[in-house]
Amino acid sequence: MRDILPPESARWRRFGEVFVELVEAAGYGQLISPLLEDLGVFTRIGEATDVVTKEMYDFVDKGDRHVALRPEMTASVCRAFAQHRPTTPWKVYYLGPNFRYEKPQRGRYRQFEQVGVEVLGGDDPYIDVEVIALAWEFYRRLGLRQVTLVVNSLGEPDDRARFVEALRGHLEAAGDALSEQGRTTLTRNPLRVLDSRHGDDKAVVAGAPPIADFYSEGAARHFEDVQAGLQALDIPFRVEPGLVRGLDYYRRTIFEFQGATLDSAQNALGGGGRYDGLVEALGGPPTPGVGFALGLDRTLLACADEGVFDCRPRPLDAFVVDVTGGREALTLTAELRAAGLAVDRAFDNRSMKAQMKVADRSGAEHAVIVGDDELAAGTVVVKPLRSDGTQLTIPRSTLIAHLTGTETR
Ligand code: AMP
Repeated sequence: MRDILPPESARWRRFGEVFVELVEAAGYGQLISPLLEDLGVFTRIGEATDVVTKEMYDFVDKGDRHVALRPEMTASVCRAFAQHRPTTPWKVYYLGPNFRYEKPQRGRYRQFEQVGVEVLGGDDPYIDVEVIALAWEFYRRLGLRQVTLVVNSLGEPDDRARFVEALRGHLEAAGDALSEQGRTTLTRNPLRVLDSRHGDDKAVVAGAPPIADFYSEGAARHFEDVQAGLQALDIPFRVEPGLVRGLDYYRRTIFEFQGATLDSAQNALGGGGRYDGLVEALGGPPTPGVGFALGLDRTLLACADEGVFDCRPRPLDAFVVDVTGGREALTLTAELRAAGLAVDRAFDNRSMKAQMKVADRSGAEHAVIVGDDELAAGTVVVKPLRSDGTQLTIPRSTLIAHLTGTETR
């Protein structure tokens, strides 16, 4: 878990702002849900999911409730839906931290930040397309270019079950040709062998029956419609039959956004899919759902790699230097801030030289200097710090107009 210091924290906030602007303009409202939920909310995600079995920060609270810090937010959205029964389609977005006890490394942290959307209560393949298109546009607005969209369909639950059985048969027949890790994964969740990075497993998986052979007519059509929708919006994608994704609740459409500049183990910038059974599993009515979650930490790494989204905080308009004791700085700063200017000042009544050094370091456009002569004359000195302009002495009463560029000449 990390501290995010200024100015890096400004990029984090801006990341959220860009996201909120985008999704609110598409009809999504924010769901603010608790960081802690009943453990059961997350175990519904799937007993064969590492996120649930190995990586959760769970504990028993003082009231003997078994709770967990959220490892992701889709389950919370579905829990909230089951609890409040809003009208559908329910289009919500979220942003905030999640917690997973993973091995920390570049792009993988124990507390990490996600933004995401979910649409509950609609089956239309064009909802899947809307959701994917929003994520695509978000990356575009950040300035990222080296992002690849991969999609797959896991079919209906029955299709998926038949496929998993056929896959299990194929993998079991391969026996020792699988890596040791692959054999362990097979006993827990055969699907996860499909995205194994081990060379031996990849060779075995290459000969496995393709999932598309198991699609029912409805699932096949749904997937075709999703692809046609993406094409209609000119969003490039690749169908990746081996894409399974970490969480067990997905059915039909799944997708992932991969960053070309990141290590392959951490190259998923975000992803999502359809989870038509999750609301029901959490005690709600049968409700289809689809959404995505994008990781902030990793996406910002990709932005740094591509040299984009280098947002800096707004520079200060002025830095007030007062060598008459500090009272002038107190009132001037307050007046300028009240006028909407970004202003800082020095404290502790230090020397002119020391205060000017801080002013320079602050990155402010101007130093506003008050010495004994200025105080007596009702003037201030305005010194440009970031350009070659000349230093001026002006009446204090015209300072705001001068700094905002609204003075009459
Ligand atoms: P998931 O909820 O596992 O589908 O993850 C969605 C996105 O969240 C990933 O593509 C990552 O960008 C991000 N993410 C997931 N786990 C972590 C982690 N431990 N550290 C940083 N980012 C993560």
